[in-house]
Amino acid sequence: MACGLGLPASECVRKHWCKALDGQQVGAHWRATCPLCWKANFEISIIGVGIAWNCHTDPECDHGDIRLMLAKVLPCYKGGGRTVARSELEKLLGLSGAALRLRVACLAWDCAPDVAAQKLGLPSRTARRAKAARPDLAGNRRSA
Ligand SMILES: [Zn+2]
Ligand SMILES: [Zn+2]
Repeated sequence: MACGLGLPASECVRKHWCKALDGQQVGAHWRATCPLCWKANFEISIIGVGIAWNCHTDPECDHGDIRLMLAKVLPCYKGGGRTVARSELEKLLGLSGAALRLRVACLAWDCAPDVAAQKLGLPSRTARRAKAARPDLAGNRRSA
């Protein structure tokens, strides 16, 4: 993933990641504090022009949740910081119940409906109906 502020990966790790996560270089990698569990088991490495990371705590932290935290602590993180257009938000007004939760989850986690349904723990029948639901801006009172 490229640095949102335009630094090359090696400088981004030093100036952005290490500063935010209290990181230190260990051999070819950096060891830092995981932004989710706050254990010093977070490994950062440079692969090509990108930055790879992993929490080595057992059990390992959820990558989606780590991404959300990275988006908060890193000044340059793009992965979890997608902005949502107002038109997308407006569509949510026409949804309710599981359909609404599913759509919000897709936007919040920037993931496909199937992934979002799984993370929300929706039963498969509910997930199917939620995915099929179309925003109904005219009649907000109709239940989904
Ligand atoms: Zn950066
Ligand atoms: Zn962790």
